[in-house]
Amino acid sequence: MIAQPVASHFIDGAYVEDATGAELLSLYPATGAPVARLHEATPALIDRALAAAQRAQAEWAATDPTARGRILRRAADLMRARNRELSELETLDTGKPLQETLVADATSGADAFEFFGGLAADLRGDTMGFGGDWAYTLRRPLGVCVGIGAWNYPTQIACWKGAPALAVGCAMVFKPSETTPLCALKVAEILTEAGLPAGLYNVVQGRGEVGAALTADPRVAKVSLTGSVPTGRRVYAAAAAEMKQVTMELGGKSPLLIFDDADLEDAVSGAINGNFYSSGQVCSNGTRVFVQAGLRDAFLARLTERLAGVVTGDPLDEATNFGPMTTEAQMNIVLDHLERARAEGARVVAGGGRMEREGWWIEPTVLTDLTDDMICVREEIFGPVMSVLSFDTEEEAVARANDTPFGLSAGVFTRDLARAHRVVARLKAGSCWINQYNLTPAGLPFGGSKASGIGRENARVTLDHFTEVQSVYVGMGKVESAF
Ligand code: NDP
Repeated sequence: MIAQPVASHFIDGAYVEDATGAELLSLYPATGAPVARLHEATPALIDRALAAAQRAQAEWAATDPTARGRILRRAADLMRARNRELSELETLDTGKPLQETLVADATSGADAFEFFGGLAADLRGDTMGFGGDWAYTLRRPLGVCVGIGAWNYPTQIACWKGAPALAVGCAMVFKPSETTPLCALKVAEILTEAGLPAGLYNVVQGRGEVGAALTADPRVAKVSLTGSVPTGRRVYAAAAAEMKQVTMELGGKSPLLIFDDADLEDAVSGAINGNFYSSGQVCSNGTRVFVQAGLRDAFLARLTERLAGVVTGDPLDEATNFGPMTTEAQMNIVLDHLERARAEGARVVAGGGRMEREGWWIEPTVLTDLTDDMICVREEIFGPVMSVLSFDTEEEAVARANDTPFGLSAGVFTRDLARAHRVVARLKAGSCWINQYNLTPAGLPFGGSKASGIGRENARVTLDHFTEVQSVYVGMGKVESAF
């Protein structure tokens, strides 16, 4: 299988190659076979992308916002029309099963373009009166913004960052993860086909140094990163040195609280979605599953039965519902975690190791006999590993759920809705679900609290994150002065 793009980069409305950049090899995670060879952006190409973005942005900001929105909505239509092709590419890039990518990646990107396309013409300021004099505020686009992506959702991340930026009149230079370079190029191509003027959405490939060079460039007003907490700290610090704005979508170790009165089947489904979808490579996963003591045994029994429904195979086969790790390095990180968990006394009730097949596969794994201080309960594993803990009281569950430096997400399963709202109100997490898990519609803000991030993606609030307020005071009378 080959998924060689036209060229490595997309700059100023066209594919661009520069073979002098270091080679980036894109591998199909299901087999480890190469699917594309690309090159890292050289400093000259980074400069070209930023210069194109800067040149195009001023005119875009002055464009009728209804026209801006129309282009984004056209891009949404094109993405939906090309969903199968884009989903196959996402599967080749990440190894996620086509069964998932057909409904979760280009479709989510299209939703973002449609949602922000609709909002583009509704960017508003305020007016204030001061007894004669008055004032108004304008929401002005920040300018050239940089997006830096992780490898788990390459299409979605490229769209979630690009859509609000373009809607408000910003330009974007996007750097995908070096391990999943293919999908963002298609997003740029589709935006161009939809009528986006050249220079407004550029893609440059590369490792962390390319992201660092973009972050440090004085032409850049804002950096939006999806990645790990350590990278987030580095990028945030570099942006702060230049007083740039940031959005940080980082990692998590989110709690999923399942009370005795929960619908067992729904709770098990929520835990499966929140731990094994995308083979566990989802930042908002509910990997600390706290089950109230009375339901624990029934939960584990049903979960184990349901794991018999796992179908592995070529992720491009729509019957496959569980895929490999996206990178060999991530597979090794997860295997190390499993080894340490066993050494700390965890009991493996399902899975627990690498699958015997080519590629980077890890079995869906369930750990029990855990304490809250074990490494597998404290650290983000970013793989198909569910830690099942048990609790007695609501008070205890909330305290233990919040006892983490992360604060991305949380879930509650209970039939007692008063309790559900009471518990959610006490959970320190940016994105919570009641009797559901991991659904992220474009109209709902998504993002983390504490170490899990700064700012939000999706929803109207994101317009604020790509604009700044300009205040205009209007004097209506004579100007008084001391002399
Ligand atoms: P990383 O933090 O390793 O990398 C994220 C991106 O930042 C990559 O494109 C990376 O480049 C780039 N990068 C690395 N160093 C720098 C630097 N100094 N300056 C600028 N850019 C840099 O994350 P992963 O790609 O490994 O993704 C997994 C992590 O992302 C997990 O921890 C997960 O929780 C988190 N995540 C968070 C999400 C959220 O929305 N909160 C969603 C998805 C993932 P390179 O290609 O070289 O790695």
